[in-house]
Amino acid sequence: MAFGPVLLGAVFVASTVAAMDRSRATERLAVAATAVRTSIDALCQQLRAAADAVALTTDRPGAASQVVNRGLASAVLVTDVTGRVSFATPEAPPAPWRDCAPPVPPTVGVGAASAAGPVGALAVRVELRDAAGAALGTVSAAQPVDPRFVARLAAVTGVAVTLLDGGAAPPQVAHSTESANGRAEVIAAAASLRGERVTGTPDGRYLRRAGPSLGQPLPLVLSVPSDQPPGLHAVLVGVVLLAALVGVAAAWRLARVTTRPLVELAGAVDRVAAGDLTARVPVRSDDEVGRLAAAFNRMAQETGGYLTALASSRDQLRGHLAVLGDTLASTHDLQRILRVILRSALAATGARAGAVLLTEPGGVLVAQCSEGIDGHWPGTGSTPVGSGLLGEVAATGRPCRGRMETADACGEPPCRTYVAVPFTAPEATVRAETGPAGDTAPAGTRSGTATSAETVLGVLALYDRPGGAEFDDDDLATLRTFAGHAAVAVENVRVHEEAQRLSLTDPLTGLWNYRYLRESVRREVERASRFGRTVSVLVLDLDRFKLINDTYGHPAGDTVLAEFARRVRGEIREVDLAFRQGGEEFVVLLPETDARGATIVAERLGAAIRDSPVGVAGHAGKVDTVPMTVSIGIAVFPDHADTGPQVLQAADEALYAAKTGGRDTWRLAAAREASATRELPVLVATRSPQDGLPRAGPDDDPGEPTTGDESPGAGSVRTGRTAPAGGASSGPHPPRHGLGR
Ligand code: GH3
Ligand code: MG
Ligand code: MG
Repeated sequence: MAFGPVLLGAVFVASTVAAMDRSRATERLAVAATAVRTSIDALCQQLRAAADAVALTTDRPGAASQVVNRGLASAVLVTDVTGRVSFATPEAPPAPWRDCAPPVPPTVGVGAASAAGPVGALAVRVELRDAAGAALGTVSAAQPVDPRFVARLAAVTGVAVTLLDGGAAPPQVAHSTESANGRAEVIAAAASLRGERVTGTPDGRYLRRAGPSLGQPLPLVLSVPSDQPPGLHAVLVGVVLLAALVGVAAAWRLARVTTRPLVELAGAVDRVAAGDLTARVPVRSDDEVGRLAAAFNRMAQETGGYLTALASSRDQLRGHLAVLGDTLASTHDLQRILRVILRSALAATGARAGAVLLTEPGGVLVAQCSEGIDGHWPGTGSTPVGSGLLGEVAATGRPCRGRMETADACGEPPCRTYVAVPFTAPEATVRAETGPAGDTAPAGTRSGTATSAETVLGVLALYDRPGGAEFDDDDLATLRTFAGHAAVAVENVRVHEEAQRLSLTDPLTGLWNYRYLRESVRREVERASRFGRTVSVLVLDLDRFKLINDTYGHPAGDTVLAEFARRVRGEIREVDLAFRQGGEEFVVLLPETDARGATIVAERLGAAIRDSPVGVAGHAGKVDTVPMTVSIGIAVFPDHADTGPQVLQAADEALYAAKTGGRDTWRLAAAREASATRELPVLVATRSPQDGLPRAGPDDDPGEPTTGDESPGAGSVRTGRTAPAGGASSGPHPPRHGLGR
């Protein structure tokens, strides 16, 4: 604080000025005292000369008058030996006279010793002696000590002069050039004045004595006024007070300027720490504190912005995850699931584009869905595993990320940065993660690459990270999570499909089962009906199968059934469906096939079964060959029935006709009665043309010869004619009682 130095300075100035003033006054008084002594000494010399002059003459009165007239002395006094005044000049100054000689005795003249009043005159006394040296008396020359004398001394010395009354106690002023006030001060200080000591008075004057001393017998006091400026102390006190005031004001201002912003800043920091990001501090200046406040405000604002963006992106991600969860839980629509996974991954990473590709049989990656890629996946929509960026990921099972050197160089969509993660079947992942050799180790005889390629279900790829930077490890980790979802989804769908397939297939033969048969026949008939097409149904029953079971055992019978199914599958088209209806009865469904086509298939099937016997494990480890034949009943929609069950029924009946017709043959269902009511109108054009094929039921063509056996118990069913090739039936057989349904 500046107050201290100012106070110190003021005290220093005050004391220095006082000391200088005192020393100057002391000096002036010393000079004045010397001047007083010199003047009085000169006066005494003059009086001595005058007294000597009177003493040396015989005409003493004459000489004395002359001396007085010339002004060498004011008065001359001549005494005889007895001390009686023998002559005196007129107007002698009043007693006592103070002798210029040494102070003892201090006074001379009439009543000098006893007189206790102010000094009347300064005198020099000379002894008168005769020639023999005998004392004759004395001559004294005197000069009066009066106010004029004191005034002259004051004029000579330049200081105020006061003559004290030497005998009085307490001291009194005899004559003085001081004012009345000054005289009082002199009296007050006189007692303490000793030697050459200088004393100050309350009204600012300095006093000192000048005598009586050797050669100067008068008790004089000299005084000079102080040179100190009159209002010095007041000015100094004012300066100090002003400094104090300025100090207080400066401290207050400093507190306002410095402390207040810091307090505000601390408060705002506390609010931000408590989570209130709207806290701001006023910026009051351009200095460091102001810049700090501005920087704080900017920081709080930016943090608030980040937080808002973070919250909104979190909400967005939550929404995506909710959709993802719902989708995963509620559907087996793989395309839809993959699209939702892709969109979630894009939302989580902010990437511009992306795609999901699945590994298809034959070692190709096929794009299932893509986002942000104009049109569809580049090229043919598929990439061979092992070639290109994604093909390499699928082949090695290792993720990759980076910057695209030449756009679209390897069948990739145009992009600058990419990240691609493979996803593997969950059990493969578990094996890879827990296995001792890691995910690159060959499993069994397979090479590492082959293992990866086989277990990699697909690849999830993202393109163009926002901001142009490459995808980082966090993005990779995020993408792995979504790839995991994709793997689970693909696996779930596959498992679901497999379960569905198993629930619809027959485990022994691998053909579709009875459940799927009914569904498929209904569906195909409905479709044929809607589009005005035909669909044929073949019902097949192995001939005398019980005999095979009885002869070679049930397992051999199973072998025959499996071989039968294999041959059937080998004889039909891709679009045709083969079912095991139950036991040794089968159905083949031929979409888009009329009666003529169906008979051709029946013919082919019969030949395929008949032509080579089946090898089965016989007795004693031998392989026995078992001949095998089949009887087939054919019905066609819309020729023979209007609904799925009716078509099956008609085919069944035709089968029965084939059995009764001698087995190892086929029969077409009997044409419907013309009068039969139809539930659905059927276009005439879709009917199979008259073909002259062998049919079940009553022959409505009387000109057509009938061949083959008639079953005794199936009087209402007739065969049309024998099968064209190898159609010899195997003789009579028992009546049928349905097809085991
Ligand atoms: P046909 O049809 O020529 O009149 O004579 P069939 O001997 O084939 O007729 P049937 O219907 O009497 O015999 C069917 C036999 O098929 C009865 C049953 O033991 C046997 N069978 C049914 N299901 C299976 C099966 O899954 N495996 C085996 N091995 N035999 C079965
Ligand atoms: Mg049977
Ligand atoms: Mg049979």
